[in-house]
Amino acid sequence: MASETAETVNAPLPGGLAAVEQEIARACRENGRDRASVTLIAVSKTFEADAIAPVIASGQRVFGENRVQEAKAKWPALMSVHPGIVLHLIGPLQSNKAKEAVALFDAIHSVDRPSICEALAKEIKSQGRRPQLFVQINTGEEPQKAGIAPQDADAFIAACRDKYGLEISGLMCIPPVDQAPAPHFALTAKIAARNGLKNLSMGMSADFATAIQFGATHVRVGSAIFGHR
Ligand SMILES: *Cc1c(COP(=O)(O)O)cnc(C)c1O
Repeated sequence: MASETAETVNAPLPGGLAAVEQEIARACRENGRDRASVTLIAVSKTFEADAIAPVIASGQRVFGENRVQEAKAKWPALMSVHPGIVLHLIGPLQSNKAKEAVALFDAIHSVDRPSICEALAKEIKSQGRRPQLFVQINTGEEPQKAGIAPQDADAFIAACRDKYGLEISGLMCIPPVDQAPAPHFALTAKIAARNGLKNLSMGMSADFATAIQFGATHVRVGSAIFGHR
């Protein structure tokens, strides 16, 4: 798996998406999962419309971006010619961008503090749009990384629901780059299970097959599809 992914990353040909699809199908088969239980989010950050268009043309409809401003500059034009695009915000969100984020995105993976909950609740109410929400868990407790510490997760998820009236759909994690991802995926799955959350956003180009093994419902794959950034 590791060598296959490295090969895909080194040779970012139009076959990238096909290779990723194949690997997802294989991971689902090997773990007794239905392919339909895993959503592939094609992470198009830093890539321009001319790189994204062929991926849309091949049938991919779900995309991920990590910056609100970049997504706003790129996607409305693409969406106007390609119906059915589903856009996920996978990067950090600032409260002052909540309005734009709720207007543009169908899912937000980076709910991680009370000020964001408050801003999202306000925008969801005033815009009448309900993006799917994920709470980001900082499973490695890395100081530079966004997300709720594992030991604070239960209380934060409860506050999202009870204090802010937000419907939380699942959890998201980004394991530390220098560690084996499996324990981080397992921890995220465990926190989700005990909080009654069924969606798990985990797994990137290097480790999405492992994430599927640990129950990922959403894998966020960029470079294996689009090439190096
Ligand atoms: C960039 C990014 C990805 C995709 O990473 P690749 O290694 O290119 O697949 C996934 N998740 C998040 C949060 C990202 O910022």
